[in-house]
Amino acid sequence: MADKYFKYVILGGGVSAGYAVREFANQGVKPGELAIISKESVAPYERPALSKAYFSPQGPARLSGFHVCAGTGGDIMLPEWYSAKGISLIFSTEIVKADLASKILISAAGEVFKYQILIIATGSTATKLTDFGVQGADSKNIYYLREIEEAETLAKAIKTKNRKVVIVGGGYIGLELSAAMKINGLDVTMVYPGPWFMPRLFTAELASFYEGYYAKEGIQIIKGRAAGFNSDTNGEVKEVKLRDGRVLEADIVVVGVGGRPLTTLFKGQVEEENGGFRTDAFFKTSVPEVYAVGDVATFPMKLYNDIRRVEHVDHARKSAEQAIKAIFASEQGK
Ligand SMILES: Cc1cc2nc3c(=O)[nH]c(=O)nc-3n(C[C@H](O)[C@H](O)[C@H](O)COP(=O)(O)OP(=O)(O)OC[C@H]3O[C@@H](n4cnc5c(N)ncnc54)[C@H](O)[C@@H]3O)c2cc1C
Repeated sequence: MADKYFKYVILGGGVSAGYAVREFANQGVKPGELAIISKESVAPYERPALSKAYFSPQGPARLSGFHVCAGTGGDIMLPEWYSAKGISLIFSTEIVKADLASKILISAAGEVFKYQILIIATGSTATKLTDFGVQGADSKNIYYLREIEEAETLAKAIKTKNRKVVIVGGGYIGLELSAAMKINGLDVTMVYPGPWFMPRLFTAELASFYEGYYAKEGIQIIKGRAAGFNSDTNGEVKEVKLRDGRVLEADIVVVGVGGRPLTTLFKGQVEEENGGFRTDAFFKTSVPEVYAVGDVATFPMKLYNDIRRVEHVDHARKSAEQAIKAIFASEQGK
């Protein structure tokens, strides 16, 4: 396989990648100069839709309806949009090795990509219970939600109504998917350790309003910690075991216990802080001509006079635009 060279490579095909490409187009990137390399098989889309409109019982959102930049009212960028501008979309390609000193990325299939400027936009991955060795966590019908393929699989799994779903986790994903499963006619139980929903964000009063509201809608709330799963002879999950000995029946389990930024590919090559790649206000990392945007960037926030990492869609969009503007400004000697 011949090596491929692009002046600019965006690694990742998520929210920040999509908004970065739009800014590249605004800045006049030339045909053939830019590629997105993504392990996903579709063009960048608005990831938040996966836990909301994707599960709407009436007219659920499906691609191509929520490709970027649908989330901000911009044009929906279909694959044709990219090809018309000579921007390469390299899908289903996971980069497994990176050598920033030589400016080389290598895919799982052994393809070699070279670049002049790299934008790291690898986002986050869902924390898996198997990572902690939770007993039975590899049973069938235990789902996570980060990428569209996982949403598709879950949407198929919930086709049969009245099934018992246990949602493990009381964060955004847990809250949104509990609601989504309920409006799809499933029997939903949420389990999360106390004291209440999203304790870092909600006050006791706010959380109590939502817990009451969810209960009124028929969602059972259990304060506890999932400690293991029992499955049947087909390996399909049947029970969630809690640390305090209680057991919950389950046909489907959805786990939303947080995520972690995908930085391992560049360990030891880029300086890190607070779990992400430390950048300046232009999203430049410690390595020349390497930028980091979205969930993986730890950047200066004037608001807090601090440097922070933010897992937020608005930040993903804006950090991407800021980085691309900075790249073009610096090329023009500004
Ligand atoms: C279900 C869900 C709902 C959400 N809802 C909201 C919300 O309502 N509001 C909000 O503010 N935020 C929400 N978020 C968070 C928000 O979506 C993220 O902060 C945002 O997507 C981050 O953008 P990103 O480009 O950094 O990463 P991502 O959008 O995650 O994109 C990362 C991309 O990199 C690819 N990738 C990673 N590693 C490799 C590799 N080695 N090789 C090739 N490709 C790779 C991934 O496949 C993916 O395409 C939600 C997240 C999820 C999962």
